[in-house]
Amino acid sequence: MARIVLKFGGTSVANVERIRHAARHVKREVDAGNQVSVVVSAMSGKTNELVGWVNESSPLHDAREYDAVVASGEQVTAGLMAIVLSEMGIPSRSFSGWQVPIKTDDAHGAARITDIDPTELNKRMEDGWVPVITGFQGIAPSGRITTLGRGGSDTSAVAVAAAVKADRCDIYTDVDGVYTTDPRITPKARRLSKISFEEMLEMASLGAKVLMIRSVELAMAQKVRLLVRSTFDDPDAPQVAPDGTPGVPGTLVCDEDEIMEKQIVSGVTLARGEAKITLRDVKDKPGVAAAVFGALADESIVVDMIVQNVSDDGSLTDITFTVPDSEYDKAVRAIEGARANVEFGKISSSKGGAKISVVGVGMRSHAGVAASMFKALADKGINIQLITTSEIKTSVLIDDEYAELAVRALHTYYGLDKEDA
Ligand code: ADP
Ligand code: ASP
Ligand code: MG
Repeated sequence: MARIVLKFGGTSVANVERIRHAARHVKREVDAGNQVSVVVSAMSGKTNELVGWVNESSPLHDAREYDAVVASGEQVTAGLMAIVLSEMGIPSRSFSGWQVPIKTDDAHGAARITDIDPTELNKRMEDGWVPVITGFQGIAPSGRITTLGRGGSDTSAVAVAAAVKADRCDIYTDVDGVYTTDPRITPKARRLSKISFEEMLEMASLGAKVLMIRSVELAMAQKVRLLVRSTFDDPDAPQVAPDGTPGVPGTLVCDEDEIMEKQIVSGVTLARGEAKITLRDVKDKPGVAAAVFGALADESIVVDMIVQNVSDDGSLTDITFTVPDSEYDKAVRAIEGARANVEFGKISSSKGGAKISVVGVGMRSHAGVAASMFKALADKGINIQLITTSEIKTSVLIDDEYAELAVRALHTYYGLDKEDA
């Protein structure tokens, strides 16, 4: 017997028929003698609709009311899932975040889970019930509902799995695992049978939105084994593990030591909507970067790539950095506001860039990955605007027009293409 948390994303609960199908996955696990908790997202498209209504009501709304509205989507699916499971003969009860309770900080709209009391969930499971928990939300110290940021149900599921000490957390979604790149970009994308937490964390941070970044961080810290698998599988089919042994199909996100064959490059990611901002003729003296990036940090703007040149004569230089397009206006305002502390000339900027990254733990021990990446892009005539690297990834900023071409070219170049494609 194992204890498993099953998380169903938006497509898995898009309507009552899909909820019934998802419930059959739950039933299979219960029938196998496992203790199961379920975490659900809102029906696909629902959260977007709710966010739209909030913005339509007032673009400058109170974040507490945003949370009150957008958290409602998951409440619907949790209740429906509990009804459907009960109808199948599986005793089930829905729980909103505040009923568990899932405690969070008070950062409305982007809250972090601080604590989950597992008592009620454990008791239910031990008594043969299946608790169905609303993903994406919790309760602030003030007693108000909070939400965790878009895609947050993944994080709820991992946090619940850690709290109830589950053996595994299964993420049911509309793809049958984690791919070498977004399968919507190239049909040659290949499913990985295993990926390390670290690589998954980089991939999620770099644009592979199959798992929310925070959920991978949490899984890595709490050592929760994650299995990403398809909701569309036949729930009654024999379960076959990624390595062909009896078990379950999908991609296992696990510790690096569990992966025998380490790839140099495991995946290629694409993040669109990157704004590039350059400050010209900045005084080249200590404290300048601290003043520029301090002004951005004060506005809670997350800066991604940063490049600063050395000036020829030690007097003036340029600083370039990127922020998400959505933060562009705020960033420019913050920089203009910092003029009192930093002297610079004009600001030149552009929105809508694309960041392409290659990720792999093998990069630690292999030289030349960055060089080969630049060559592969040069062969396609793609110009690189900015470059950043870390231990297990290399990223470049390019014109959005070439984004998909670049992903496909790199995917082929690093031998990731599916053999039969
Ligand atoms: P859910 O609603 O189940 O949470 P999401 O839409 O958040 O599902 O995430 C699944 C989607 O992530 C897939 O449909 C796929 O297009 C996208 N995706 C992006 N990169 C990858 C990748 N490397 N592997 C698998 N899916 C990816
Ligand atoms: N429903 C929320 C969203 O669309 C949370 C989630 O699905 O993970 O962002
Ligand atoms: Mg998601």
